[in-house]
Amino acid sequence: MKVLSMTTLLPTTTAGSLPKPSWLARPETLWSPWKLAGEELAAGKRDALRLAVDDQRQAGIHILGDGEQTRQHFVTTFIEHLAGVDFEQRETVRIRDRYDASVPTVVGAVSRPGPVFVDDARFLRAQTDRPIKWTLPGPMTMIDTLYDAHYRSREKLAWEFACILNEEARELEAAGVDIVQFDEPAFNVFFDEANDWGIATLERAAQGLTVETAVHICYGYGIKANTDWKKTLGAEWRQYERTFPNLRGSTIDIISLECQNSRVPMDLIELIRGKKVMVGAIDVATDTIETPEQVAATLRTALRFVDADKLYPATNCGMAPLRRAVATGKLRALAAGADIVRQELAA
Ligand SMILES: [Zn+2]
Repeated sequence: MKVLSMTTLLPTTTAGSLPKPSWLARPETLWSPWKLAGEELAAGKRDALRLAVDDQRQAGIHILGDGEQTRQHFVTTFIEHLAGVDFEQRETVRIRDRYDASVPTVVGAVSRPGPVFVDDARFLRAQTDRPIKWTLPGPMTMIDTLYDAHYRSREKLAWEFACILNEEARELEAAGVDIVQFDEPAFNVFFDEANDWGIATLERAAQGLTVETAVHICYGYGIKANTDWKKTLGAEWRQYERTFPNLRGSTIDIISLECQNSRVPMDLIELIRGKKVMVGAIDVATDTIETPEQVAATLRTALRFVDADKLYPATNCGMAPLRRAVATGKLRALAAGADIVRQELAA
């Protein structure tokens, strides 16, 4: 584990995705199809990545991402580059026990014929001297987005994906990525599987990395299936309680959580004391832009359970489906809110 060369207290970052420009993909649409093709698409993705970097930089964000400008879907785009998965052969499955989707089928042994995001990460690295973070899907969330006609075992397939993710993560590290983040919203749904083998497969995906590693566990994008599901979760969302003890004992350095406007009791964070925590202080399920003071209030509460040098202010989840102006406003609010608390800590 390398200590991130981060001199700023409360370094801000995003969970991952940002809206795409309207010339690249249909706005305010999750998993929106591309508007360009061929070489124009390749160039357009890179232009969008540069804009995403600039938006984050101008807003005052410290740890920059690519805004996921080169991918259509946070899981599927990675899987598209793997062998053993047939995208023509589709089956309807229930995603995260919540909504049905038509998904590709695992038809043979899965493998990674070549790097997936490594060139994009190198391109991001060339845009900035600030620390950069790269997001990958976690093994358990990957298997939850597929129909498996080959291994016929969720655990077996997760271990296979973990090995593949590890190959990619090591190359991302070599490309200059400072934090490799694995997105595991499935950890908030399949608690027994997460504890039995999900966290172990995640550790396998991160094995041997010397840069920092993060796991992002949220309540999902602000889409209807997720907001409807949240309504069924009751007055207190205690889901994190189920996996935190084992995550605390894991090799993963940073845990990324949803805290703003969520019903997660913040004292649950005490269960991962010692870990670094990306505290979601921006709600991605509303167009209302937080005030800096609202962000600061969430961070102050989190500071009761996270040491200041381990707190990374972040967004609850990705902002891809939001309007760009809203997302930019939220980035600025995040930076300004963190500034307030940073000054309080310095005083
Ligand atoms: Zn998320």
